[in-house]
Amino acid sequence: MPAVDEAFFAGLAQPAIRGLKAYDPGHDLVALRRGFAPDVLVELGSNENPHGPSPRVREALLAVAGELHRYPDPRGGDLKRALAAKHGVAEPQLLLGNGSHELLMQFGQAFAGPDAGIVMSQFGFAVYAIAAMAAGAPLVQAPCLPRDHPMPRGHDLDAIAAAIGPDTRLVYVANPNNPTGTWFGAEAFAAFLARVPREVLVVVDEAYAEFVDAPEYASALPLVAAHPNLIVTRTFSKAYALAGLRAGFAVAHPGLVAVMERLRESFNLNMAALACAEAALGDEAHLHDGIRFNRERREALADALRHRGVFVFPSQTNFLLVEFGEATDAIEARLRAAGVVLRPMGGYGLGDCLRITVGDDDENARLLQALDGARA
Ligand SMILES: *Cc1c(COP(=O)(O)O)cnc(C)c1O
Repeated sequence: MPAVDEAFFAGLAQPAIRGLKAYDPGHDLVALRRGFAPDVLVELGSNENPHGPSPRVREALLAVAGELHRYPDPRGGDLKRALAAKHGVAEPQLLLGNGSHELLMQFGQAFAGPDAGIVMSQFGFAVYAIAAMAAGAPLVQAPCLPRDHPMPRGHDLDAIAAAIGPDTRLVYVANPNNPTGTWFGAEAFAAFLARVPREVLVVVDEAYAEFVDAPEYASALPLVAAHPNLIVTRTFSKAYALAGLRAGFAVAHPGLVAVMERLRESFNLNMAALACAEAALGDEAHLHDGIRFNRERREALADALRHRGVFVFPSQTNFLLVEFGEATDAIEARLRAAGVVLRPMGGYGLGDCLRITVGDDDENARLLQALDGARA
């Protein structure tokens, strides 16, 4: 091979790509699994749903197995019809994504650029900053709420509104947010939206919306009809437990969706993802079982952690952000050596915290046991 390296090709890449850093997906789980006996590793680093998908998903998967020589439906018509009925929106308001991650990136690609900036919150989801960099768009990170606020390090909607300037084109907020687990209420969001100019698009990432039961919270979905600049994204990866299939969607004004369709790869959702997402959507009872499963274990795990004297952020999601202080890195490494994988938060500038997915009873018990060993 001639002596060229990554820097050589980065030099050939477009300016926005040169400084780009890839999304950090956490530890290499495939490599870690090789070091442990099957099913020994406790994987609590990626907010996956241990309750699992609806049994109807398996049937849907088997049904497409005989059709794999065909292309999938490029329009995703059946899934869109099911989503439209479930969420009370029109089909032309729906945009399907290969996971919502794809859509979050493509909003940046379509609408942001060197003269069209992006605003997000400090400690907002990492993908928003990557979307800004990939688009070559200036990024403003509004200060988050203070650590001693009821929503520690959560989105400060006033600060986000104040950060919007004449060159802002796109705002990303997550409700609830990853990695903080914090959320904001419906009234606060309505007041925020009233301050945002029509030409500034607001993406509300609702990846964890199904898990929420805080009374002041409401999804932004019903606001889309009255606010052409509002985009709401959802995913099948979390509450529907289909992270492996890659399916997400956005709800927005039909005109905005039409522009995004110009950019969308026609077969971005494969046949299995389309069929399984539709099957999962149809099983409301299973969804609600999973939500209850998570809620009970999340509160029990948070109590068990607080009982051990660590600070646990409030959460309406399927994960907890936990402060371990100066010993964080050592604890994380010892846990990993004991087969418990959590998500380090150094990349977010939260090096004294770990993000812990709420597991099943066995996983949570093994986490707590390993933690007691690691802190001893
Ligand atoms: C997990 C997550 C997503 C969804 O990712 P998919 O690409 O749909 O799997 C989006 N936003 C946030 C904040 C998340 O945590």
